[in-house]
Amino acid sequence: MIDIIDAWLRLAATRLHDQAAALTALDQAIGDGDHGTNMDRGFTAIVALLGDPPDAADERGRAATRLRTAGRTLISTVGGAAGPLYGTALMRAGGAVSAADASAAAGPIMVDAIDAAIVGIQALGKASAGEKTMLDALMPAAAAGRSAVEDAGDSLTVGVALAEAAEAGAHATIPLLATKGRASYLGERSIGHQDPGATSAAILLRALADALDPAR
Ligand code: ADP
Ligand code: MG
Repeated sequence: MIDIIDAWLRLAATRLHDQAAALTALDQAIGDGDHGTNMDRGFTAIVALLGDPPDAADERGRAATRLRTAGRTLISTVGGAAGPLYGTALMRAGGAVSAADASAAAGPIMVDAIDAAIVGIQALGKASAGEKTMLDALMPAAAAGRSAVEDAGDSLTVGVALAEAAEAGAHATIPLLATKGRASYLGERSIGHQDPGATSAAILLRALADALDPAR
């Protein structure tokens, strides 16, 4: 499991780096134009720590420690809203990984981890669905992932369901009115632009699906 997490974090860092300008352009339209550089800086710092083997007795514990360390790294290296929100999300995801049944498969663990991440984001940011935030990618993704698990999908099928729903959710933020975060300062002028955080959430979940694909 830690191999998948490390592959995911590396791929996510590469994709966020390559799409930093696009994320920043989205944030220039409805925020302060730093989301791309924020995410790029944070994930670069995460990847820099991947050489250190996590200190835990078993595979599941190492995976959980990796996610918690990644979350702490985001909180300490990224300012603004997204660093603490994504950092908390990764730390909660690590908590879900360590709490999962020893016999649980990767698909259900991923969905539990995303559910836990959403709970953490909401505890910190007090947003709910439809407020034009990262949650509008993550919440539909969690629902689609849960359905894929219930349909007995394997981990790749679950990962693809997460990514597709997150991308659709990010796109669906365009007509929404922002009522949380900096974009809310724009009021009605936030309408007509895709939310940067929902877009980075979709990038992260597409990277997860691709990290799970053995044909990659
Ligand atoms: P900042 O807004 O401080 O400049 P970023 O630009 O890095 O931070 O991140 C902006 C993104 O953070 C938004 O596009 C939105 O998705 C997300 N966001 C902001 N506030 C909240 C919140 N309260 N809950 C969930 N997500 C939020
Ligand atoms: Mg910003």
